[in-house]
Amino acid sequence: MSVAPSSPVADLGADAAEVVDTPEGVQLHGTRCRGCSAASFPGRFVCYRCGSRDLVPAPVGGSGTLYSWTTMHVSASQPVPYTVGYVDFAHDVRAFGHLATDRAWQIGDPVEVARTPGGWVFAHPGGTS
Ligand SMILES: [Zn+2]
Repeated sequence: MSVAPSSPVADLGADAAEVVDTPEGVQLHGTRCRGCSAASFPGRFVCYRCGSRDLVPAPVGGSGTLYSWTTMHVSASQPVPYTVGYVDFAHDVRAFGHLATDRAWQIGDPVEVARTPGGWVFAHPGGTS
C-alpha cells in the first residue's frame, strides 16, 4: 500500500545522487534553482525559495561547519546511541545527517562528508567513522 504525499507536489527526492565521489573528495549533491540560484540538500523538485520547478542537480560541497548536534539514546528504528546534526555548507545549505562518533563534537567544528559501508556520514576532517 502506498501513502499519498501530504503536499500537492512531491518536493524532495530529485533524482540526483545524494553523495558522489569527486577528485576533491566525497561531496553531497543536491539541486540548484535556475530561477533564483537557491541550493538545496537533499535535492528538490520545487524550489523552496521561489517555487520554480526548474532545478538542476548541483554539488553542495564536501566540507562545512557543524551548526548543531545531539545524541539519540532512544530509537525504535536503529541501534542507540547515535549522533545526528546539522552542517552548514556554502550557498546557505544546512544539511542534516549522522555524525561520526569516533570523537566528541562541538558546535563550530569543521566537518567533512565521508563514505561509510552503509552510505555516508559527517566526520571530522581526516577522521574516520
Ligand atoms: Zn528558486
